[in-house]
Amino acid sequence: MKRTISGTTLVAGVAGSPVRHSLSPLIHNAWLEAAGIDGVYVTFRPDADRFDKFVDGLRGGAVRGVNVTLPFKEVALSIADEVSERADAAAAANLLLFETDGTVVADNTDGAGLIAAFAAQAKDFDIKAGPIAILGAGGAARGAAAALIAAGAPKVRIINRTLAKAEAVAGALGGAVEACPLSAAAGALAGVTAVINATSAGLSGEGTLDVPLELTPPEAVIMDMVYRPLITPFLAKAQGLGRPTVDGLEMLIRQAIPSFEAFFGRRPDETTDVRALAIAALEADA
Ligand code: NAP
Repeated sequence: MKRTISGTTLVAGVAGSPVRHSLSPLIHNAWLEAAGIDGVYVTFRPDADRFDKFVDGLRGGAVRGVNVTLPFKEVALSIADEVSERADAAAAANLLLFETDGTVVADNTDGAGLIAAFAAQAKDFDIKAGPIAILGAGGAARGAAAALIAAGAPKVRIINRTLAKAEAVAGALGGAVEACPLSAAAGALAGVTAVINATSAGLSGEGTLDVPLELTPPEAVIMDMVYRPLITPFLAKAQGLGRPTVDGLEMLIRQAIPSFEAFFGRRPDETTDVRALAIAALEADA
């Protein structure tokens, strides 16, 4: 069915900079079309130092809400009037909702997306079974650590190039989270049930991450939040070692499900193959 924009069309979108290559419009618009919802999902590229003005312009609900991506996740949290527990724990928001009374509500669905991606692609993985290593100590790593602890992970090891940042995350999240320098990753990978790359290394054009994945137990699940390319050098190494893997695209799609529900009031039809659409777009973009 061909969609038309009407006087009652609900508007949502994603705000980031850059945002042109975001896969979120493709995913949300495919779900909207499949469900026959009178809605549209667009991109916004606010000025880097005027995100507050951008949000002020949307107060009142003309736009139902926006997903927030780099570099605005932290500032989005700081200017919201209401903050969910999981956004507070992550110290970042990937979702802002604009209520009709002018209130701005911040949430974070990245952690839920991460856990749902493991459930979809690593069915035997048990969060509660042992320590999980996270590479990186930025917003994505902190959000992942908070969500994993909330879901019952007994221990999370934050491994980062800059130790002070890993220590800050561990300090904020409490005793089940420990910090480790990237130079000592070998020791921190012993006995883990999963390793999650939450650094930006591996992203097309960025440096690669040299981590001794061969020291992880054979059943350890290796996950990369980076999905451009879909199979990063990190995931390729894991696959070469025969480790089960989870990719960042699955996380992106799974974090979008609760966002869609918040914007449009119902869950997307998960039989719509947005993954195939996204992979085709990634390949066309490469
Ligand atoms: P961020 O705040 O900028 O943090 C980046 C982290 O990467 C820092 O810990 C940094 O270490 C580390 N890093 C960067 N280059 C490195 C290198 N060459 N070697 C070792 N460490 C390196 O970014 P973020 O918001 O946390 O996002 C991290 C990644 O996750 C991004 O690629 C983002 O696109 C991705 N992500 C994906 C999803 C998804 O749905 N798939 C969701 C959220 C985020 P230092 O502290 O030492 O600088």
